[in-house]
Amino acid sequence: MPLQQPVNVWCQTHPLIAELVALRPTSWFNPQLAPSVQALGDVPLSRQDVREASERLQRFAPFIQSAFAQTAASAGIIESPLLPLPALQGVLRAEHQLPEGGALWLKADNLLPISGSIKARGGIYEVLKHAEDLALAAGLLQPGDDYARLDSDEARAFFGQYSVAVGSTGNLGLSIGIISARLGFKATVHMSADARQWKKDRLRAHGVEVREYSADYSVAVEQGRREAEADPLCHFVDDENSRNLFLGYAVAAERLQRQLVEQGITVDAEHPLFVYLPCGVGGGPGGVAFGLKLVFGDAVHCLFAEPTHSPCMFLGVYTGLHDEVSVYDFGIDNQTAADGLAVGRPSGFVGRAMQRLIDGYYTVDDATLYRQLAQMQASEGHELEPSALAGVSGMVRVLQEQQGYRQRLGLTPARLAQATHLVWGTGGSMVPREEMDAYLAKGRIELAGQ
Ligand SMILES: *Cc1c(COP(=O)(O)O)cnc(C)c1O
Repeated sequence: MPLQQPVNVWCQTHPLIAELVALRPTSWFNPQLAPSVQALGDVPLSRQDVREASERLQRFAPFIQSAFAQTAASAGIIESPLLPLPALQGVLRAEHQLPEGGALWLKADNLLPISGSIKARGGIYEVLKHAEDLALAAGLLQPGDDYARLDSDEARAFFGQYSVAVGSTGNLGLSIGIISARLGFKATVHMSADARQWKKDRLRAHGVEVREYSADYSVAVEQGRREAEADPLCHFVDDENSRNLFLGYAVAAERLQRQLVEQGITVDAEHPLFVYLPCGVGGGPGGVAFGLKLVFGDAVHCLFAEPTHSPCMFLGVYTGLHDEVSVYDFGIDNQTAADGLAVGRPSGFVGRAMQRLIDGYYTVDDATLYRQLAQMQASEGHELEPSALAGVSGMVRVLQEQQGYRQRLGLTPARLAQATHLVWGTGGSMVPREEMDAYLAKGRIELAGQ
């Protein structure tokens, strides 16, 4: 779709577009941010919906534990640890002359069992919900049953009549494919050109059909959606619009709340929580942020992070055009090492529903992602994929912003000295060794050239 007016006219009313088009790392603090009691009403989902999603995941825990031995320690609950990053914080403080105070933490979704990324939340949840709906309707499952019985040849034969399809840059396909195949569904994953070869190989090894496209994510999704529509027994997981995906992500918040309590971390107006979320199409970060706003209200400050070459959500919200605009319309190429974030057009659902709940949006260049990948590994020992480093710059952007944001929100030096900064580490533990070594080598070159 062509823009209604040329880029230079847009820049007159929206000066940051010139920065984005020039691919410069850019931050925007949202002037439309509203009190959460008001803005939560923009989201067509409720606290009750999130509670039901949480209860559903609890019902499925015996199945998950039976089907995936690596979840035994958590009794079938797919959750990641909350880890401190004191050494990385020291590195960032020295590099950017940041004030003392505050504490940097990692939500290590790179360590999530089954698929090693944030997609193990929403993606797996949506397939479980679909399986439950089918099994209850067919009488294969009764309310109150032990769901471990779904890990059986009888259940797999039943689900084998149905199929699941999804379009993905890689990680969503990995999550949907693995859980679908394990339940017995026929699974088809439509992979964009950005998807890493090892993700396709891994899926094929699980018996998943992988379709490869030379085009980007939006095209892979569109193709998948069209094919699935022609088959009444096929469920298409719609990453751009799905409310179930979104709810699966949102459950993270209540679990994070318990982990913060365990660590003795207070979250309130005097002790703000900043959460930095890498954003592709927006479902993952949007769902997590929705859950966080329900739990922590105005004490939590969520920021979305995107690559300089793929700032689709930033552009969509900043211009108010949402999914009516893509980065290509502004001459931005959507080519980035952050394959999980290589999305040209944002979710219209998330952008519209969350636009008064997100504090800000910023972009990071690939060189910085690689450099921080090496810094994270050297200082803390955590190995993340490039996309998952996008949150690391967030603390720096907040502490150095000059758009009047901290003042407007009463984020005084005293409050910031008691703040918790949480980097959402969205993926990485399944990256093959050689591939991770190549990432690290690139990161060390960036560090050396600094
Ligand atoms: C998918 C993904 C994201 C972002 O999630 P969206 O729902 O696409 O916004 C972030 N990091 C990684 C590693 C991902 O795979």
